[in-house]
Amino acid sequence: MTSGMPDQGRSDIVKVIGTLLSSALLLGLASPAAAQFGLIEQGAKRAKQVSDFNWTDQEKAALGAKVSELVRQRYGVVQDAAVHKYVTLVGRTITEQSTKPNLPWVFIVLDTDAVNAFAAPHGYVHITRGALALMKDESELAGVLAHEIVHVSEEHTIDALKKNTLKSAAAEQVAGGNAMIEFLANAAYNNILDNAYSRGDEAASDTIGITLISKAGYAPQGLGSFLTTLAERNKSATEKRGLFSSHPEMQARQEKLTSTITKNKLNGTQLVAERFTSTIKYKPVPQSQIASVAAGTKGLAGGSNAKESKSSNAKADEPAEQPKKKGFGLGKLVSGGGSESKSAQVTGSGGARGLDPEKDAKGGANPAVVAVKVTPADLQAFKKAGSLT
Ligand SMILES: [Zn+2]
Repeated sequence: MTSGMPDQGRSDIVKVIGTLLSSALLLGLASPAAAQFGLIEQGAKRAKQVSDFNWTDQEKAALGAKVSELVRQRYGVVQDAAVHKYVTLVGRTITEQSTKPNLPWVFIVLDTDAVNAFAAPHGYVHITRGALALMKDESELAGVLAHEIVHVSEEHTIDALKKNTLKSAAAEQVAGGNAMIEFLANAAYNNILDNAYSRGDEAASDTIGITLISKAGYAPQGLGSFLTTLAERNKSATEKRGLFSSHPEMQARQEKLTSTITKNKLNGTQLVAERFTSTIKYKPVPQSQIASVAAGTKGLAGGSNAKESKSSNAKADEPAEQPKKKGFGLGKLVSGGGSESKSAQVTGSGGARGLDPEKDAKGGANPAVVAVKVTPADLQAFKKAGSLT
């Protein structure tokens, strides 16, 4: 990136590049074999109309799948069918109440101590093992899943991409040069994890989310209860980090949750604590002890750190996709020097090194989706056993 560009301009361009890549992916141009200049050219042309482009379901699905793939490669997936089935059942109990019950919903548990959750277009909801470890009961899980489900069902995920798109002039400005291919991949990856929703969308996810879980029979206080635990966990941090880091201040948020419950007479009551604690056995790891991966400290020029740390204890399943990990954390760490780049930099004190302990947390090595089959009868039995509606 050229020096001297104002921060805002730079950040806008990072965002538009993310959108360009997404568009390129949708056009099927992002395979390793794609002609590099063709990719840029097509992406730039597409970007001129992306802000008012009506995405087809097929395009949304392709985008969601790609986003999910990148998230899974970054954090790994807990290879536990029982845990996935349980989270899927809770998730499906909520999606049934949503405006999009028929999306191909997929619930994925990421293999990291970090506390986080990510939505991706067209039905993908990711939640970390660390987040599950912090929860006390199923109503809290339902609250967090519902928040992410609303980001998907109301298409906040798509809106964030559109809003972050620049005009064609900026697109042309960045369109050119071989290094752009690398940059495109990195920028899109960062954009995905940056939780770039508007405040309005965040508030809507909270309010609609707790309404959905209450309709499903869960205590609508579940989300607020989890957020209280999260605030406790984060109180020593100097800035808001990780899950919901872009959300309104916690106190205002809690007040809004409480007033929504009263105003809308949300009367769900089930906590379903026993089923939760007998299924989810993870133990929380304090934020200060989460191992971080300092990938991205080399910025655009390199950064094979994450790849090295992972391939040391895992078979390289999809080597063609690995380079996309190179610049993880680019947004915050682009100015990092090369001196730290010689090792994988797995450390127990990421915060002290200027990392975001939740976002930059080390993840598991296996990105494979754990297939879960949930029949209507399964779902019915699950709801009945939990006294849900
Ligand atoms: Zn959110």
